[in-house]
Amino acid sequence: METDTITAISTPIGEGAIAIVRLSGPEAVSIADKLFDGKQLALADSHTIHYGKIIDPDTNEVAEEVMATIMRGPKTFTREDVVEINCHGGLVSVNRLLEIVLAQGARLAEPGEFTKRAFLNGRIDLSQAEAVMDLIRAKTDRAMNVALKQMDGRLSQLIQKLRQELLETVAHVEVNIDYPEYDDVEEMSHEMMMTKTREVYREIERLLELAKQGKILREGLATAIIGRPNVGKSSLMNALVHENKAIVTEIPGTTRDVIEEYVNVRGVPLRLVDTAGIRETEDIVERIGVERSRKVLQESDLILLVLNHGEELSEEDINLFKAVEGLEVITIINKTDLPGKIDMNKVKQLAQANPVITTALIEEKGIDELEKAISDTFFEGDLDAGDMTYVSNVRHIQLLKQALEALSDAMNGMETEMPIDLVQIDVTRTWEILGEIIGDTVHESLIDQLFSQFCLGK
Ligand code: GDP
Ligand code: ZN
Repeated sequence: METDTITAISTPIGEGAIAIVRLSGPEAVSIADKLFDGKQLALADSHTIHYGKIIDPDTNEVAEEVMATIMRGPKTFTREDVVEINCHGGLVSVNRLLEIVLAQGARLAEPGEFTKRAFLNGRIDLSQAEAVMDLIRAKTDRAMNVALKQMDGRLSQLIQKLRQELLETVAHVEVNIDYPEYDDVEEMSHEMMMTKTREVYREIERLLELAKQGKILREGLATAIIGRPNVGKSSLMNALVHENKAIVTEIPGTTRDVIEEYVNVRGVPLRLVDTAGIRETEDIVERIGVERSRKVLQESDLILLVLNHGEELSEEDINLFKAVEGLEVITIINKTDLPGKIDMNKVKQLAQANPVITTALIEEKGIDELEKAISDTFFEGDLDAGDMTYVSNVRHIQLLKQALEALSDAMNGMETEMPIDLVQIDVTRTWEILGEIIGDTVHESLIDQLFSQFCLGK
């Protein structure tokens, strides 16, 4: 158990009319009581809220009018005693309040320390703690739902279930080895383990497939708009940005003139890459060079390839199709208000199985269809993100891949009739790796590193 009491501002700095200073730890109530002029908080029932004034005990001046919420452990987020002091949201007043609280013996929380305590005190597991972090960073409602589900423990439950299955397999085999009065014990064990491990294998595979979507929700879909000069790339960009709420306009710390814009298209956060490049010279290839543009394309999750309905397909157009072969591409035939000179059949042939959308951006036509195509590409139909267990966390994905490898070793061992206790080693290893996702077998330093990535006050 931690012994000191931590505090931090737990609302975003400078946002909203109300700010909250949160305390957690054994002294949370007594520290608050020293500052609070109103009801005696030490005597207050748990989970009650009280109006009062904050008096600076050092100067006896009234600092703030506040509402104080008393929550006694273990029925709190950290399982410790928690006090939340709500004050007016101005930066000056909330900082002053924090200073007074610190002066009375609380320690400033490290980033993520509240969540870390919740984890260490067994309130949440590691994947849930990481979900809190994702939630803070979520860029769309859909992304937020994924994080909420994970915080809810959905992923944990699934991982627990898989681990349980592996454990049962191992246990079952042990029993068979201990009671070898049956014939063909080895063979039976192999058979049984094989079936079970295959099931678990498929389940992990499915999680990894869904992870692609989870990553997109978390980081945004890296999207490049390409096409010959004058086909309507800027118009498309503007349509997407104006139709949809731009989420972030500029990412500080990115290189030079590369600006990324986030837009929310039906719950899919698009990260429009290199928009500055596209905007200024109209031609991504011309601007950043052939090599780099190829790299940008290869790193894109989605390519919007724009063509001109009013012109014949050119060699340049066909080269663009070649450059993006094998990638996720939506072809847009723009300017359908102009007489059609483009060979539609040829376009469909070049696009292969990828969607082809027609637009007249100048008349704001076709944008809905395009947005639907974007959303369909990543949610296959109208899949409700809420129904799925997405793994969106890089660490989890890494571990799932490792688990898959270990399990594949086990399956190979079974196929080649390796001694069962050797096979068991791989199954047990899989069980351990899965345990790391929920924090059952994680290293202390990993925990510190993970929680330090949190925002202050969470
Ligand atoms: P970019 O060079 O690919 O970025 O193309 P722009 O978006 O700058 O557009 C080039 C020109 O085509 C501009 O004059 C646009 O107004 C015009 N344009 C864009 N979309 C359409 C459309 O659907 N129909 C017609 N007729 N013109 C369009
Ligand atoms: Zn343009």
